[in-house]
Amino acid sequence: METEIRKIVCSVCGTKSSHTVITKIQEYGIQDIDLRPTGEHRNSMKFWVMECPQCGYCNGTLETPLDANRSYLESDEYITAGGSETENILVSRFIRKALVNLKNRDYAEAVKSYLYSAWVFDDENDDESAVECRKEALSIMENSRLLDDDNLLLLRADLLRRTGQFDKVISEYGEKFFNQPFILLASQYEVKLSKDGDVSAHNMSEIPGVKFK
Ligand SMILES: [Zn+2]
Repeated sequence: METEIRKIVCSVCGTKSSHTVITKIQEYGIQDIDLRPTGEHRNSMKFWVMECPQCGYCNGTLETPLDANRSYLESDEYITAGGSETENILVSRFIRKALVNLKNRDYAEAVKSYLYSAWVFDDENDDESAVECRKEALSIMENSRLLDDDNLLLLRADLLRRTGQFDKVISEYGEKFFNQPFILLASQYEVKLSKDGDVSAHNMSEIPGVKFK
């Protein structure tokens, strides 16, 4: 992985601050079913979100404008990271980014921001907090009707299973057909894991019938 320090001007308050950005990253290994990368990419999450040291604005880059009144950044909802009051700085940034994504009506990105928060908690073996983040991701998916995309439907199956909602996975995905063979096999695997009551992470190479070179 190669990184560099860049000065970024905050689109909300105009303050210039330094941030580490990834300029090159090698993709290798086999992702988890929820698309969590492996290798150095897996451990680069702290570079996926920026926080303005002046106004607290959080986003993938501070150059992306906030589609709401600036005073939102001073609201209780924003300051407490959606009431989570987490002490984990990276999670707090991801959740505030998710709140910004929601204001900007970028629902798919908001889902990802909560998913990233869950990954941070996975690494800390904080299962309870990880489940809370996955439930938030699920509720955004459902409220924003994001479910017209097969990749998101597969992610939803993984989120449901990893939050222990096995019956839902079995009833909604047991007979469900997907055109893409990979997604069909992966969703059937999610059903099998749900029948086994398995809430843990699995990677794509474990899916029966899927071969990686
Ligand atoms: Zn700012």
